[in-house]
Amino acid sequence: MADLVAPGSVAAEARPLLEIDLAALAANWRRLDATHRDSGGLVTGAAVKANGYGVGMALVAPSLAEAGCRHFFVATPDEAIALSDLLPETWIACLNGCPAGLEAEFTARSIRPVLNGLADLARWRDHARRQEAPCPALLHVDTGMSRLGLDDAEFRRLRDSPDLLDGVALDYAMTHLVSAESPGSEETARQRDRVAALRAAFPQTKLSIANSSGIFLGADMASDLARPGYALYGGDPTPAQPNPMRPVVFLSAPVLQIRDIGEGETVGYGATWRASRPSRIATLGIGYADGLPRCLGNRTVMLAGDRRLPVIGRISMDLTTLDVTDAPDIVPGTRIDVLNAARGVDALADDAGTIGYELLTSLGPRYRRVVKSV
Ligand SMILES: *Cc1c(COP(=O)(O)O)cnc(C)c1O
Repeated sequence: MADLVAPGSVAAEARPLLEIDLAALAANWRRLDATHRDSGGLVTGAAVKANGYGVGMALVAPSLAEAGCRHFFVATPDEAIALSDLLPETWIACLNGCPAGLEAEFTARSIRPVLNGLADLARWRDHARRQEAPCPALLHVDTGMSRLGLDDAEFRRLRDSPDLLDGVALDYAMTHLVSAESPGSEETARQRDRVAALRAAFPQTKLSIANSSGIFLGADMASDLARPGYALYGGDPTPAQPNPMRPVVFLSAPVLQIRDIGEGETVGYGATWRASRPSRIATLGIGYADGLPRCLGNRTVMLAGDRRLPVIGRISMDLTTLDVTDAPDIVPGTRIDVLNAARGVDALADDAGTIGYELLTSLGPRYRRVVKSV
């Protein structure tokens, strides 16, 4: 959505603020690239699908390119086209593939479809024949996710009939990890074997395997091209250990009003919170329309400096209420942190019973998005 108000205007000041630390984003990409290479991997790209995980693709993609990233992954064709407008000539892979009719546009724009089955492959082969030139693409082989990609039977057919790839310039064969954030898991062990079979079947083809967490799995999942997304944006790729990534997303909202209520008064829809003492309530200008999950009502905290202020009552569409009885210095206009360096997207997602991925990609269009200055 276009900005409704001029940046820097009084109206803009009253909106919740989403600050993006692009230096931290670039540092995170370099960190992932170095970790991947330490494990024997070759190149690291970036997943910028879903509007750069909600952060803003137009902000993050150019910064990643400047940091040295040359391979970008998006999910949908319109994301791929938008990205190729932003970064012409850039290598772009479209994970959900190329819809029939869009083949020529993909090729004109250097967009590589991910071929998710033999039918996709056949259609791309026909396209290449019409172009009378090899057309680049990726081939997705399923090794346990059972969503997209060649299944076992298709994989064996292709292995036994490599001519099915005629005319297709196969940039990479790729597969996707089921439980990369749980290094000891049974699924990861099973996928190690299947990845080994994939390597053996296509010894000449470059492979793309790891997502963010996969980069931390070591040599088995290192490949020619890693595809991290979440960790770039500060999400924790190694939940069993301290988060190695720098925080990228900082979210704050202004206090609109402070009010005093008596013991026994209730706050918000459905009266789900009742004051057990005379209380001070701060009302913030942020709500579920801004991607703050409604289930966080009575279940999380927000921060004033390092003080944790309980969210009380239900979160409404545009408003959230906090108990600030013990924080008398908070006044209308004070900015309260929803996400900051001390409390990131993983902690907030935990309180909501979801994952940081969902929180990030739910960030609404109503924010004032600014680049964080250091
Ligand atoms: C989203 C996605 C990624 C990036 O995963 P993260 O866990 O965010 O690093 C990589 N590969 C595929 C196929 C994806 O769908």
